[in-house]
Amino acid sequence: MAHRWIFVEPQAPLERISFDPFPPQAGHVVIEVAGCGVCHTDLGYLYGGVRTNHEPPLALGHEVSGRVVAAGAGAEAWLEKSVLVPAVLPCGECDACRRGRGTICRRQQMPGNDIHGGFATHLEVPARGLCLVDEARLSDVGLTLADICVVADAVTTPYQAVQRAGLWPGCLAIVVGVGGVGSYAAQIARAFGASVVALDVDPEKLSAVERHGADLALDVTKYDARALKHAIAAFATERGLPQTEWFIFECSGTAAGQLTAFGLLVHGATLCVVGFTMDKIELRLSNLMAFDARAIGNWGCPPEMYPAALDLVLEGKVKVKPFIEPRPLDDVNAVLEAARRHALKRRAVLMPSL
Ligand SMILES: [Zn+2]
Ligand SMILES: [Zn+2]
Repeated sequence: MAHRWIFVEPQAPLERISFDPFPPQAGHVVIEVAGCGVCHTDLGYLYGGVRTNHEPPLALGHEVSGRVVAAGAGAEAWLEKSVLVPAVLPCGECDACRRGRGTICRRQQMPGNDIHGGFATHLEVPARGLCLVDEARLSDVGLTLADICVVADAVTTPYQAVQRAGLWPGCLAIVVGVGGVGSYAAQIARAFGASVVALDVDPEKLSAVERHGADLALDVTKYDARALKHAIAAFATERGLPQTEWFIFECSGTAAGQLTAFGLLVHGATLCVVGFTMDKIELRLSNLMAFDARAIGNWGCPPEMYPAALDLVLEGKVKVKPFIEPRPLDDVNAVLEAARRHALKRRAVLMPSL
């Protein structure tokens, strides 16, 4: 029997509910979940006072890979295909969608926020925007369908940020917070030709990203703001990198990380806000003006960009395996509790098959 883990109210454990996922409505498919990543955003709903768009009860989880096991009218072509479910599914028809701005579509649907998500054995989603996965290519590089669920959000969200920021070969990129999202931001920035400085407070995360993506990894607890900027400037000098136009990706989703990121502005810098926190910080916004710098937000990633982001993984330019930890779906409450305590060193991937 299909089941899902339901978010009932903040702070309370998720509840296991059996349900019948069949048949899907027209234009929709039912996906048998292979893997669903546990994201900082899920913790925000559960513990952080962030509200889901659809009132609970609701299954959380928006980082899904799986196989299409039933298709509604018009979506039959997806039957039996392996897919990634984009974390943000735009309607595809409104003015914003037609202009290629699906991430701001007001009729978008996000699993685990607007509709039931992937902390489940099955979920139903609109077929439009699904990303086809070639399982033969996957197994060639030693990956499973479950492994790549993180592409649905943790890889594609920074991919969209890097695209939008306009990185060029030979630039300097700084990633603040190299957890579930930042570790991929570092690898993607490097794939785009940047030299990458990774910042974090966790030595284990720093050493992982030093093996995959970062040219320099700094423990920010050992520097004040001024010394940190000097250390990065010295690295830039040593490597012949620019002292201006740094690309800064705030991926920690913490007030401290945001302050660090803002403090690293240089002339012509681009600050990308990729992580989310409800906390507020005090800053001198006029620094953007004085440095002729810019700040960009980033909600998800348009489905059209998913194949290119997935290609980075299939080509081995972005490694996912060192940054994930498969866990049985039915351990979800223990996993969430551990994530809340920062006791997980890698992103948990919930798998119904374990
Ligand atoms: Zn997420
Ligand atoms: Zn739309």
